[in-house]
Formats: sequence, C-alpha cells, structure tokens
Amino acid sequence: MGYSFEKLPQLIDMRGKLPRKGEYVDLGVNSKTVRVWHHSLTKSNLAGSTAEAFGRFHVNTNGWPGVGYHFVIEPHNLIKGPDGRMRARIIWCHNPGVKSFHVGNSNKFSVGICVAGDYRSEKLNDATLLTVSEFHAALVRDKIGKDDKAHNQMPGYSWKPCCVFDYKAAFFFNKPVNVSKPTPLPGTYDIQEGDTFWSLANELKDITVQDLIAANPGVNPQNLKIGQTIKLGKSKNVYTRPYETPKKPQNEYKYPLPLVTIGKGKKNPKQEVLKLQKALNAINYKCGVEDGIWGPKTEDALKRFQEVYTPYEVDRILGPNTRRQLQAVLKSKGH
Ligand SMILES: [Zn+2]
Repeated sequence: MGYSFEKLPQLIDMRGKLPRKGEYVDLGVNSKTVRVWHHSLTKSNLAGSTAEAFGRFHVNTNGWPGVGYHFVIEPHNLIKGPDGRMRARIIWCHNPGVKSFHVGNSNKFSVGICVAGDYRSEKLNDATLLTVSEFHAALVRDKIGKDDKAHNQMPGYSWKPCCVFDYKAAFFFNKPVNVSKPTPLPGTYDIQEGDTFWSLANELKDITVQDLIAANPGVNPQNLKIGQTIKLGKSKNVYTRPYETPKKPQNEYKYPLPLVTIGKGKKNPKQEVLKLQKALNAINYKCGVEDGIWGPKTEDALKRFQEVYTPYEVDRILGPNTRRQLQAVLKSKGH
C-alpha cells in the first residue's frame, strides 16, 4: 500500500535521482511528528529554483549527503490535473522517514517541505496554493507528521526569514492564520545538526560566508561541532563593511595578494606567485620555500585551502572567490 500523496497528479518521484554524495539514515515514517515549511529565498522563476539545483547546492557547497528537503514544490513547473486545473510540481526527494538536514537539532522528527521562491517579496500563485492544500491534506491522511510549523517556529530558528509565506492560509485557502514573524537576528548562535557557514549565510542575505569566517577566527568552517557557539548577528559586515573608509591598497597589507589570476594552467609571474606563497605560509597552508615558482607544493597548498574555504570551487586557481576568502582568513588572523 502506497501513500495517498503518491496519487497526486503533480507528484514527481525523484528519490535516488537527485545529486548526492552519501546517504541519510531512514528512521521510518513513525519518527516524524512535525511537517516543517520552508521557502528557498531564491526567486521562484529563476533556473536555480528547482529541487535539482537545491540538491547540487546542498551537496557541492554545503557538503551534505543529499538535498536537505523531503519535498520541493516548484511554482513555475506546472502540471495540468485531470480536472483541467494547473498545479505546481512536487518533487519527492526522500522517503518521509529519512533524517535529512533542514532544521538542525530537530531533523530527526521533522519532514522538510520547501516551496521554491522568495516570499519576502513574492506571493504564492494559484497553482502553488492548490498544490500546497492538496499535498497537506494528503500528508494528514497518510499520518506523515502531526503538526505543521514554519522553519522559524522550530527551536533555535526564530530569527530565520523562513518560511515567510502564510502556510496555514495556503492549507485552507480562505481562512488566513498569521504566522509568527522572525525575531531579530541573535548576536550568537549554537550550531545545530547540518548547519554550515554556507547554509547559514544562504538564508541570510546580509551576512556573507566571509563575514562568518572573519568574525569567527579559530572556528574551522569545515569542522563545525553541534552546540558550538559562533558569532552570527555579530558577524554582520565584519568582512564586508559597506560604509567603511576606503579599502587599503594591496601594498599596505602585510601580505598583499596577487593582482592577477594565477594558478594551475595560468601564466604565473614570479612576483605574483611569491605573494601567494607568503600568504599561504602565513596562515599555515604550508607551500614550502617562497621562491616565486608555481610548483606542486604551492598548487597543493592552494588546493587544501580551497577544500576548506571554497569547497564549491577547488580548481587550484586564485580567482576572485578564492582571493576574497584568502583575504578574509588573513584578516581573521590579524594580518
Ligand atoms: Zn528554511
């Protein structure tokens, strides 16, 4: 016997077909008590607002085993039902009992449903409202979870702008119920399961990964521990200060960085490679003798740096992203 939600015409079963690099554990559907509603904070009509794209981001950038949500609703990918009405697609990503990453310490007992879109500025379209109401009714019939909550109603997440649409109104269409608004961003935050600097920054448009790195020296972004306290609100603009006095010219830094793109397969002028070697050695990504020659040791040190700070771009080239991270790390070490 399958679930009743499987009979919805707008359901697409993509279990096992989305990007992944490991397995989440399946604790069985009875482990789930809460249905947690998310939005993606990416505009719903963009190419990146699909389950496939979220999967790629969660795996390649966040380093998670697979997409964090159990279901993703795609408001711009429509399917016509047998009654002729248009419905938004539901992408089925994981069995309901899977313990995936979407609400930190509550992952074990929560099913994650993400409606693609940024509902701080967008409105749910009719096809999406119809899908949310039909899908919710089916989950209730199937006894998958007992209660519904917005992401920011889960413990520790009151500051998250997720989901900001009125999910309860969507269940019932005409009976709006207000959802609690997110509270201000706390200065510090205790790491929950599945959190990464990239996933935190991604849901907060005014805090960047570089801010988190710069504000939390001594914290290894690749090795966050559950319960570890990091600066969150307090990291705002620590790296990207918009109204700061003009940036120092590179030659006033202790470790000025190369002014051109260097690295694997590039022309590598000696004086520029030398700058990179000095910077890498200064932050303990040892690359051997500082001789200005692009060789295996320098390449390996840059690769190790990228694996930690730009895991979405390990190309052994010092381009704009890697350069920005390197500058942030140097700054966090007082250089
Ligand atoms: Zn969320």
